[in-house]
Amino acid sequence: MTACIFCKIIEGTIPSMKVYEDEHVYAFMDIMPATKGHVLLIPKTHCENIYDMTEQQASQLFTVAPKIANAIQAEFNPKGMNLLQNNGAFAGQAVFHFHLHFIPRYDETDGFQLAVKTNDEAYTAEQITAFATGIRSQL
Ligand code: AMP
Ligand code: ZN
Repeated sequence: MTACIFCKIIEGTIPSMKVYEDEHVYAFMDIMPATKGHVLLIPKTHCENIYDMTEQQASQLFTVAPKIANAIQAEFNPKGMNLLQNNGAFAGQAVFHFHLHFIPRYDETDGFQLAVKTNDEAYTAEQITAFATGIRSQL
């Protein structure tokens, strides 16, 4: 028996509020929603995070993502929507079964804050070019 809480949700041994299911993926309401309509989309086969996800799992999951987002949009008419996916405890991952968050956004006080501060002086163009070279060498 698995110890993974999201595998248990897929098995049906712990309850969830299902939104969508097909052969490969399962979508359900986040039990502690950041905002109204917060949904999680997961692969049915266990993978911890993006690093051990197969191309097939990724393809099956992201094929369904627009359908889920459009359903949330149609139901609640939020002003925007953040798709969020945490990898590793340092990045805020608490459940180690890959999950994509759909977080509808209503206003500045809707309970969700995401600040991506860009700093155009942090690295030179030469350094960023070298970063790109390094990443390409790992592909
Ligand atoms: P993360 O921090 O990205 O790993 O997100 C984990 C999410 O899973 C959180 O938003 C939790 O509220 C949610 N969560 C944990 N347990 C359950 C559960 N049993 N049913 C639904 N959502 C859950
Ligand atoms: Zn799992």
